[in-house]
Amino acid sequence: MANAQCIFCRIIGGEIPADVVHDGGAFVAFRDIAPKAPVHILIIPRRHIASLNDVESKDGDLMGRMLLAARAIAEQEGVAEAGYRVVVNTGWNGGQSVDHMHFHVLGGRPMQWPPG
Ligand code: 5GP
Ligand code: ZN
Repeated sequence: MANAQCIFCRIIGGEIPADVVHDGGAFVAFRDIAPKAPVHILIIPRRHIASLNDVESKDGDLMGRMLLAARAIAEQEGVAEAGYRVVVNTGWNGGQSVDHMHFHVLGGRPMQWPPG
């Protein structure tokens, strides 16, 4: 459940403000505080799930709805047609810095491949 040390749980709890763009019930989406692209939205489950490694099979529906929300948000933000990227950084090598699982939705500029 909510983790008092977790910055994203504190956003969910209303303790830290965030620019929320979508409320999906079991998940919310808000703008990244340090955007890496003109559009940079984070989608997080309300329940504290530390990383993709901690997602259980019962969360499959939640993950699917979060992914569809990523697409809807890309449309809402006007980047769907030009293209965008959905990223789930996981663990140390994956570059995860906040241990509450989240999707990044990045758009508004060309993305490079492979990622750094
Ligand atoms: P990660 O590095 O774990 O994949 O992504 C964490 C993201 O959370 C980073 O892009 C970072 O800028 C963002 N972030 C960290 N703290 C806050 C915060 O307090 N508010 C918001 N809106 N974003 C945050
Ligand atoms: Zn959390």
